[in-house]
Amino acid sequence: MYIRELFVDNFRNLQKQKVEFCDGVNILYGLNAQGKSNLLESIRILSMGRSFRGSKTTELIKFGEDYFYIRALVQQDNEDKKIEFAYKKNENKVIKINGNKLKSASELLGHFLTVIFSPEDLNIIKEGPSHRRKYIDSCISIVRKSYLYNIIQYNKILANRNKVLKSIKEGKGREILEVFDEQLVDYGSKIILTRQQYIKTMESYVKKILSEISKESVDIVYLNSIGLKEMTEEEIIKNKLKEKLAKNIDLDLKYLTTQTGPHREDFKILINGYDSRIYSSQGQQRTLALCLKLTEFEILKSETNKRPVLLLDDVMSELDDKRKRYVLEKLKGFQTFITHTNKNDLKGDCYFEIKNGVVIKE
Ligand code: ATP
Ligand code: MG
Repeated sequence: MYIRELFVDNFRNLQKQKVEFCDGVNILYGLNAQGKSNLLESIRILSMGRSFRGSKTTELIKFGEDYFYIRALVQQDNEDKKIEFAYKKNENKVIKINGNKLKSASELLGHFLTVIFSPEDLNIIKEGPSHRRKYIDSCISIVRKSYLYNIIQYNKILANRNKVLKSIKEGKGREILEVFDEQLVDYGSKIILTRQQYIKTMESYVKKILSEISKESVDIVYLNSIGLKEMTEEEIIKNKLKEKLAKNIDLDLKYLTTQTGPHREDFKILINGYDSRIYSSQGQQRTLALCLKLTEFEILKSETNKRPVLLLDDVMSELDDKRKRYVLEKLKGFQTFITHTNKNDLKGDCYFEIKNGVVIKE
């Protein structure tokens, strides 16, 4: 798939305009603070329904205005798909595909596939467990529709269970706990099983990719909440999770939150046997982040049989020549957007200068 045309209105600092892109390498160049990342952000929102920079939807509205509207024509198999995203302050977002309004942003997933590479990818390696959970949850959600549903349900039940823990402290509601535990275990075990499968696939791709750019060895370990190494059956996971929940009830009642389950999990990436979060150098961590992103791209391709669009925000300037060449080779033949401050550093199929929010095609 490729994005043929983009229209933006009141989005961040971008001027109201329609831009046509080419199905190849699109170089977006310009000085700092002109709107390059904003342009990529608008594209990514049409793919994922939210900002890759973690911004709230309301922050995307141009200063002083009260709405924004963005639209893309995405071509696949010679057919155009029109994706629209509108947001007015204090109202719900409106997302449409070919004119049909979606019930929720989660329905957007899978329609327009993108992979974003940005300097913030380093956070997946460096930051705490919640960053890694968020990352794999979003990767899996695109390729497994039921996974996102399970996560949403699990989080709802978890919030209710935590409320019950508080009421138990006040002497009531113990009998309802069992009902929530049953549901929590149901959704939780499905999540654990899928995460395990995804992490295993992810590990095999990361191993292959890293071996092509470095001599180091890599392993990915799923730090699941039930302490099982190999999990193949949902029923076994279910029983184990149930057991753990029961065992930790005193802790849960002490802290008034649920201490066990997928919401507390993590995965660890080992380089030459050592935890990359603690022991790897900045360069090793950056390489790993790049491997994760290329893996995301490979898995998306193989699971969907579609061609994702690649968004590279400020990553080229951070890579050495060997890695730069490697990445460009991998992404060859796919529509790619690359932001850069210097036009002459990179070879593209079409070039756009971004100046004060205006996109000028050469
Ligand atoms: P760099 O090369 O430094 O990464 P960039 O071209 O990627 O620069 P952007 O991140 O796209 O820059 O930001 C461009 C400008 O948009 C910034 O000056 C920022 O202050 C401005 N901006 C951010 N949010 C809004 C908003 N809601 N309304 C108007 N302008 C905004
Ligand atoms: Mg930028």
